Amino acid sequence: MSLVVQKYGGSSVADADAIKRVARRIVETKQAGHDVVVTVSAMGDTTDELIALAAAISADEHPREMDILLTAGERISMSLLAMAVRDLGQGAQSFTGPQAGVITAGAYGRARIIEVSPGRLRDAIDAGDIAIVAGFQGYNQESQDIQTLGRGGSDTTAVALAAALNADVCEIYTDVDGVFTADPRVVPSARKIDRITFEEMLDMAASGAKVLMPRCVEYARRFNVPIHVRSSFSGLEGTWVVGETEGDTMENAIIAGVAHDRSEAKITVIGVPDVPGSAARLFEAVARAEVNIDMIVQNVSAVVTGVTDISFTLPTASVSDAKKAIEADKALIGYAELVTDDAIGKISLIGAGMRSNSGVSARFFAALRDASVNIEMISTSEIRISVVTRADMLDTAVRAVHTAFGLDSTQAEAVVYGGAGL
Ligand code: ADP
Ligand code: ASP
Ligand code: MG
Repeated sequence: MSLVVQKYGGSSVADADAIKRVARRIVETKQAGHDVVVTVSAMGDTTDELIALAAAISADEHPREMDILLTAGERISMSLLAMAVRDLGQGAQSFTGPQAGVITAGAYGRARIIEVSPGRLRDAIDAGDIAIVAGFQGYNQESQDIQTLGRGGSDTTAVALAAALNADVCEIYTDVDGVFTADPRVVPSARKIDRITFEEMLDMAASGAKVLMPRCVEYARRFNVPIHVRSSFSGLEGTWVVGETEGDTMENAIIAGVAHDRSEAKITVIGVPDVPGSAARLFEAVARAEVNIDMIVQNVSAVVTGVTDISFTLPTASVSDAKKAIEADKALIGYAELVTDDAIGKISLIGAGMRSNSGVSARFFAALRDASVNIEMISTSEIRISVVTRADMLDTAVRAVHTAFGLDSTQAEAVVYGGAGL
């Protein structure tokens, strides 16, 4: 007998019928002889609606209250799902994150799971029941508060439960048939990937492929938990995210896929003195505001002026914090002007095979040139190239690069079963 952890995303439990459909799939898995632990997201767009509701009540930030508010979404779906499973004659018990022994640390709104003590889940399994856990939440023992894990955090709950319970597999059920070579909403000819390594999946996720949350992939890699990403609508075999050691059956493609990200903005600090220490002073200010930055570009300074411009990208949600912090240090840094721009997009090409393939960058840039996409910033790693473009050119860029690397499928278009994908 094996233990399966299943995670159902918001679009898979969007309404009563969807919850009943998911309940049937859970019971089928149990009847096939497996123990099943389930984690669920909030129904449909509940989390976004709760965020909008809070914004309509107060313009201030209330991190602690926001976390309590948002965890309610997952509690609604966990209890309804338990009722639906019980209606099918199968025992089930739902648990909040704290009840399930999920312990967190760090800031409200983006806490990390530091430990899982799954005693109550084990008891439920031993009693023959399905344990259903609210995703996206845990208990901070220091503050004695409930915390959320950041958007998309139920993916991480699933992997953390799978690791703690030593599950055979962690199945992530979503609204597409697996991980594709690009977001099927942007590239309908994207191909489903059968197997991908943790390493490549981590770069895809960190570059904006939101089908899995980056932290969930990190967690899976650390504890070597195989993830099976698949659709709760079709039941087709999906994508296996696995460790390098199983590479003998891995597709040996140079490129795994193309990811895009619309969630970042760009800050340009103009007229920074080109002397040692300028960048340090600028980024110390940004770090004080606890803002994570992504790409950085410093222009070559003109000899006559002795000043330069520094641009960097960061999450759009962090722009006002970063701006305030830099402006507070204006005299210290000595810059002339600060300009923000949130109409940017980022496209990334990911593949372990590019390490040993020298023509990849040339082909990538040629594809963007042929599609008349202007490049504003570039960054590379061993297995990734990313560039910043205008936001309105991003879809064109993604399709052009996808085609240039021969990733288009010759079969039917990729199906997106779920909602708006916001
Ligand atoms: P869930 O609610 O199940 O967590 P998400 O909306 O978080 O679902 O993630 C699924 C979505 O991820 C898909 O609908 C798709 O639009 C998007 N996506 C982005 N990049 C990819 C990719 N490379 N492969 C598959 N889906 C992707
Ligand atoms: N409900 C949360 C969100 O919308 C967590 C999740 O779905 O994984 O981000
Ligand atoms: Mg998700």
